[in-house]
Amino acid sequence: MANFKDLNFKNIGALVRVDFNVPLNDAYEITDDTRMTAAIPTIEKILADGGSVVLMSHLGRPKDGPTEKYSLKHLVAHLSHLLGGKEVIFADDCISDEALKMSSNLKPEQVLLLENLRFYKEEEKGDEAFAEKLSKHGDFWVNDAFGTAHRAHASTTIVAKFFPKDKRSFGYLMETEVNNGNKVIDNPASPVTAIVGGAKVSDKIKLLEKLIDISDNILIGGGMAYTFIKAQGGQIGKSLCENEFLDLAITTLALAKDQNCQIHLPSDSVVADNFSADANFKIVNSNEIEEDWMGLDIGPDATEAYSNVIKNSKTILWNGPMGVFEFENFSKGTFGVANAVADATTLGAFSLIGGGDSVAAINKAGLNDKVSFVSTGGGAMLEFLEGKVLPGIAAVTE
Ligand code: AMP
Repeated sequence: MANFKDLNFKNIGALVRVDFNVPLNDAYEITDDTRMTAAIPTIEKILADGGSVVLMSHLGRPKDGPTEKYSLKHLVAHLSHLLGGKEVIFADDCISDEALKMSSNLKPEQVLLLENLRFYKEEEKGDEAFAEKLSKHGDFWVNDAFGTAHRAHASTTIVAKFFPKDKRSFGYLMETEVNNGNKVIDNPASPVTAIVGGAKVSDKIKLLEKLIDISDNILIGGGMAYTFIKAQGGQIGKSLCENEFLDLAITTLALAKDQNCQIHLPSDSVVADNFSADANFKIVNSNEIEEDWMGLDIGPDATEAYSNVIKNSKTILWNGPMGVFEFENFSKGTFGVANAVADATTLGAFSLIGGGDSVAAINKAGLNDKVSFVSTGGGAMLEFLEGKVLPGIAAVTE
């Protein structure tokens, strides 16, 4: 498959699926434009080649058709600003005759933004007739919406049927996400260390199984650590625990042992007497948490041990915080790990921050430019790393 940069869009009408699902406040102002800025290089490349661009995206979760709150018209002015003042034409529907007329009248170097795809239920259902109508907006389909690549929706997957293989491509954002994800799952440089945290084991169990295959070390933190600790006979007090996963935790530990992957659990924890920012807290052995206390962060010894493993690694994947990093008193483990990942990267390791809350943590620590790659797709990157074939990727490559 050709690299996106090697394609030439001169006189081509490109239909580009972007992920413009940005947060808006009550005044319909964009409060975080990361997803929009991430798509700009793809749009600019097509325009610079002398092509035209029809952009399609979803925004939020509208339930009953068109809703003011979820209209993509709120993005037009900012998109124009991000494109250096270029005019952005807006179609107030994504498949109406009027919208199709607007795209067919588009001249080279013009940009048209279509109204929210999810104003039609057909989008999420992956409806074929709806996808076919969308396909009429362009001669070439570019998928640059990594954040929805794990969903077989009309615009992310089904629409591909209506374009020949040489008229389909990733944009720069998708291409970069896929290339960086592959650096972790395809022959990564060893030692490979995966840092996995967050609230629940149940959300990460598939990821853990895959990571056991490819990692030398797995460092477990966050709420999910306590299910493992309890499974091995530890006292975890009121810490988060998924009792129905205790057996699976034991099986996972045994599987890791079989495959020479060392799973590390936090030796100590910062425990709190309730779940709040101003709870009383102290540091205890993670196996000996008293009845009325709960583990909300990995402790200083665990942070140091994890940092040492990280600094000796050549490939690092991080998914999920080590504690309730939203509360300052329980954020030290997460930020300690973030710093170790940044230091290891300076020493030459490849580090991928795999989406979701670890991205928020690395941003909060101000270290996002000190790691190799920060993924924009939470759920999509998780499924990619689990080894699943994402429908939005297969639609381009297969
Ligand atoms: P996830 O979306 O599964 O990656 O989980 C992220 C969330 O897990 C964050 O909001 C953290 O505050 C929360 N979290 C991390 N550690 C703990 C813990 N020890 N107890 C409860 N929640 C936690």
